[in-house]
Formats: sequence, C-alpha cells, structure tokens
Amino acid sequence: MSNPSLLILPGDGIGPEVMAEVRKVIDWFGAKRDLAFDVSEDLVGGCAYDAHGTPLTDATMARAQEVDAVLLGAVGGPKYDQLDFSVKPERGLLRLRKEMDLYANLRPAQCFDALAEFSSLKPEVVGGLDIMIIRELTSGVYFGEPRGIVREGNERVGINTQRYTESEIARVARSAFELARKRDNKVCSMEKANVMESGVLWRDVVQEIHDAEYPDVELSHMYADAGAMQLTRWPKQFDVIVTDNLFGDLLSDLAAMLTGSLGMLPSASLGAPMANGRPKALYEPVHGSAPDIAGQGKANPIACILSFAMALRYSFDAGDEAQRLESAVNAVLADGLRTADLLGQEGVEPVTTAQMGDAILAKLDASL
Ligand code: NAD
Repeated sequence: MSNPSLLILPGDGIGPEVMAEVRKVIDWFGAKRDLAFDVSEDLVGGCAYDAHGTPLTDATMARAQEVDAVLLGAVGGPKYDQLDFSVKPERGLLRLRKEMDLYANLRPAQCFDALAEFSSLKPEVVGGLDIMIIRELTSGVYFGEPRGIVREGNERVGINTQRYTESEIARVARSAFELARKRDNKVCSMEKANVMESGVLWRDVVQEIHDAEYPDVELSHMYADAGAMQLTRWPKQFDVIVTDNLFGDLLSDLAAMLTGSLGMLPSASLGAPMANGRPKALYEPVHGSAPDIAGQGKANPIACILSFAMALRYSFDAGDEAQRLESAVNAVLADGLRTADLLGQEGVEPVTTAQMGDAILAKLDASL
C-alpha cells in the first residue's frame, strides 16, 4: 500500500519557520515509527502571489483535493496589505476551505500543566484541561439570506438570517460523535432552543442522529449562554462541544484562550469523508504569520506541531502516535523550555524555534 499523502503549505511570515520544525517531526515518524508520508510542498498566500500572481493556483487547489490531508502554516503580511481584495493572501486560505467544503472546524482547548500559570483562570480550573469545540463553519447566520442593510421608513435596518438545513446540522453532528468516540465519548450540543427555531431544529436533529447512529456516545444539550458560563466556571466537565457557526466563533475563542498563548493553539477543519473513508482535512495553527517576529528564530512552533498531531489522530487513525507527540511537547514544557512568547518568569532565557523543535524530537526519541 502507498503511504498516506500530505500537502504542506508553509505560507508567509513565520509559516516556513514553524513548518521546518514540523518537517523534522514528520521525518521522525517515518524513520522511527514506520509511519511514512508522501509529502509534497507548495505555495499559498503572499508567496504564491509573488510567484504566480494569485494566492492559490488551480494546480495547488487540485492537489489539495487529492491528498489525504493539507497542513498549512500561515498567510499574510504587511507587504500584501495594499493588494486588491481578490488576490489578498487570505483569499488563498478561504478558497481552500470553501472548495474542500470544510464544514466542521475543530478547535481544541488543551492546557499543558506547565503553562497553567498563563491562564486567566485558576490553575486547578484549567490544569489538565482537554476539550474540543466543533464549530459549524459553512452555514448559519454568516451566510443566510436575506441579509443586508435596508431602509425602512426613516431609518436603516441591518438584517442577517440564521438558517440551517437538517442535512447541515446532521453532518456536523456526525463529525462530533465520530470525534467523541476517539476521545472520552461525550458530546454537549449548544444552541438557543429557548428563543430560536433554528436552535429547536438543531437540538432535534442532533438528538435524532445520536439515537439512530451513535447511542453509545453520551449526549447532553445546553443553551449556548449557559455554556459560556460553564466553560469559565468548570471547563473540565466537557469533552466535545458541538455548536453552530456564530456561537462556535465565540465559544471556541473563549475556550482556546483559557489555556494561554496563541503560539500553542492548533486547529483542524474537516469535510465529508473521501472514497478512502478519511475526511477532507486542513490542519493549521490558529495564529497568523506574525510579521513582527518573522525571520528571527523567535516563533513558537508548537501550534503547528500540535496541528500535525491532530492530523495523526483525525486523518491517519494514529491516536497513540498523536498522544506520543503531545506528551513530548508536554515534557519539553515541563523541563522549563520556553520560546519568547511563553516567558513569564524572570531569568529564563528563551529558546529559538529550532531549539524547541529539536527538544521535542529528543523527547520523542526518549519515548521509544
Ligand atoms: P498573528 O497571530 O500573526 O500575531 C499576533 C501576535 O502573536 C504577534 O505579536 C505575534 O508575534 C504573536 N504570535 C503569533 N503566533 C506566534 C507564534 N507561533 N510564536 C510566537 N508568537 C506568535 O496575528 P496578526 O498580527 O493579527 O496578523 C498578522 C498577519 O497574519 C496578518 O496579515 C493577518 O491577516 C494574518 N493572519 C493569518 C492567519 C492565518 O494564516 N490563518 C490568521 C490570523 C492572521
């Protein structure tokens, strides 16, 4: 059987620097764990515009549709700020998400013990936290029609429409249940069924999919406003949370920042299963291209490395290896290694991007 395929799109700014560390990790799994990938690399964002006059060529788009998973660094930067909207670096990323129809956005909120001090919450509330928010990404109030600003009598009215079809709810619910089975087998669905009809339908459909296809998964429902309170009060009560585009936008940012720095946060966007059963998938750190530190060896590669760990778990059925990688990251942090963005204590010297990558490789070696 051929190796699984991976398209790497490092992008702009710190993207190539953090991705260089991920390449070392990928090579390590090929050499030491018999888990080799067919890796190809291409351009996205500003660097693609510089080379081809477009932030994503048709050939790169076609390649992204073929591979088992795409891993992206970051796009954008001040050099491209004046470009026409149609060719801005971010358009490359948006085209990938749209044409791959990536409807389930996975945002983990995971707190490494050594970094619990970075949270605005008490260490005992966030220490060991490991939850996953799944946000519906391609429908809901950001896309519903009618929309616009219209004049009614003497004043203007702003209109957006929350709209969900049964099939849109069903497919993201299935993503949540499938994920829960790979985790602690618990899903909490959040909406506002008390005041919104779309919320009533959301609750019904999630329950129906559960009862028919996933009765083994523990399911609960919560109003999204109560969910926000519970996330700050006692986040460890959750495993997987599934919610719509708008509530997910807010709740995933809230949950992610429970755990500290932007340089630590991975994400995944998943679509429908392909012929081989794997979902269409794009993995990327939450952070941007960080032009203020690009090219200085200061970037934290952990968000991008953890994005690859998500690929291992959710595209390649290698949950044990994902765990090995996450444990290596945890061990490095426990040893006190910090890139500049993670410095809190005085007297601690920051390590470079490459030193952080090498330290993680050493922990992977030690795990054998
Ligand atoms: P940013 O995430 O790039 O940076 C915000 C701050 O966090 C900066 O001070 C940066 O130095 C720091 N930071 C981010 N990632 C870090 C890391 N891995 N290690 C250490 N420090 C890190 O957000 P921004 O400054 O608002 O945007 C910069 C550019 O990135 C813009 O062009 C924006 O459009 C683009 N952007 C791209 C993406 C993406 O590719 N998905 C996401 C957000 C922003």
